[in-house]
Amino acid sequence: MPKSPFDPAHAIYDTTVPARAPWSGLLHRGQVLRIVDLEGQQAVDALFYRADHPEERYSAQDTLRAQRHAYVGLGTRLMSNEGNVLLTVIGDSCGRHDTSAGACSCEANTVRFGHHTRYMHACRENFTLELGKYGLSKRDIVSNVNFFMNVPIEPSGELAIVDGISAPGGYVDLRAEMDVLCVFSNCPQVNNPCNGFTPTPIRVLIWDPA
Ligand SMILES: [Zn+2]
Repeated sequence: MPKSPFDPAHAIYDTTVPARAPWSGLLHRGQVLRIVDLEGQQAVDALFYRADHPEERYSAQDTLRAQRHAYVGLGTRLMSNEGNVLLTVIGDSCGRHDTSAGACSCEANTVRFGHHTRYMHACRENFTLELGKYGLSKRDIVSNVNFFMNVPIEPSGELAIVDGISAPGGYVDLRAEMDVLCVFSNCPQVNNPCNGFTPTPIRVLIWDPA
């Protein structure tokens, strides 16, 4: 794993997000946020909004088009729907993150896994709960990033959700290029391998600019 310049002892914020739970916070321009996949193979679904104008928000389409590459990784600039850079990936121990497969929902679970999964907790519920704190709602849930989630895109164009390649203690570092509202769902999915079939806690840290 590459050595990181960021020392947890100097973080201004450090919390553990329980398995299946949401998290959100405001990241000021220049601050760096780290997500740590404490036990490995834990998908973290993420939405990003411009803090003072949340109609401007993360766009998977603009991000992939700008970088001309199908996955999120070191150096990826996470783009908004207005063509601005929200955040840049400046550290990454995993090597590949998805932004094509979307977030799990109760509705999608019933289609993929059967009606008995209708009442299982899902990322869309986490997002809805967390967005409500900021006056946002279901209609503000757009395409998201799935950190630590392994979704190879097959030559046919189909997506496959397969075992995660993120090792315990793996991390991704995001530098805010503007003031950004970050909304995460520590994915509760247990019907496919995106969380190794066992959702686990993550850690979130924030550093001020050096
Ligand atoms: Zn999920």
